[in-house]
Amino acid sequence: MATFLHRAPSILLNTVRASMAPDSPAGGTPASAGPADPDLIEDLVAANRILADQGVLDGYGHVSVRHPGNSGRYLLSRSLAPELVTAGDIMEFDLDSNPADQRGRTMYLERFIHGEIYKARPDVNAVVHSHSPAVVPFGVSSVALKPIYHMSAFLHRGVPVFEIREAAGMTDLLVRDPQLGRALARSLGDKPVALMRGHGNVTVGSGIPFAVYYAIYTEVNARLQLQAISLGGSVNFIAPEEGKLYEPNIAGTIARPWELWKKKALRRA
Ligand SMILES: [Zn+2]
Repeated sequence: MATFLHRAPSILLNTVRASMAPDSPAGGTPASAGPADPDLIEDLVAANRILADQGVLDGYGHVSVRHPGNSGRYLLSRSLAPELVTAGDIMEFDLDSNPADQRGRTMYLERFIHGEIYKARPDVNAVVHSHSPAVVPFGVSSVALKPIYHMSAFLHRGVPVFEIREAAGMTDLLVRDPQLGRALARSLGDKPVALMRGHGNVTVGSGIPFAVYYAIYTEVNARLQLQAISLGGSVNFIAPEEGKLYEPNIAGTIARPWELWKKKALRRA
């Protein structure tokens, strides 16, 4: 507990002040920004396991964090099921998603989601991409995902749906290049969540706990919204003003669920 509280401010604020690195040589290996704080790596490993525990990630999906020493780099596991990720699996990428330290390791095909969102959103320091199942119907239906209760109040800001056909016509639906990553980042705009039609969703935050919180409660909201709709009457959603009024409470209390999730996830390691 004490250790967590000691570290909490830097984890939660996770403000990256470092300047952008010079561009990587085209097609070359970018220079490493150096080793990241082991506590941040531990949080990234925990985030992988928490999201697996919570049913947001399964064998697929990934979570990244911007490098605290260089805002032009991010950290993401090698291609591996999230539940199995350890500190030694974390790789470093530039924002074009070239690896700084590949060492023969295979990489996630969809890592461009992360690099292009970090480019477009200087306020974002953590990104989750998942196929969390309850959310998927809202990406293919005309029924919009809306906040059902206070825990998912952040959805009041609106939930865009990324239509990959508009960006590139017929594809295999994977965000497998920078152009598709940029199109997704454009759909996301300044929001915390975007749905990806026929695929999954992406959540972003100022630090790992926020991106994880948004991913978990987007999934929970989707389940609850479906239940509310199935009751058959009209659904009285959280009003945008109520969402706005509640949001500061998420920032004020996020350390509590984060500490619980992390403890449980790392205990099983
Ligand atoms: Zn995916």
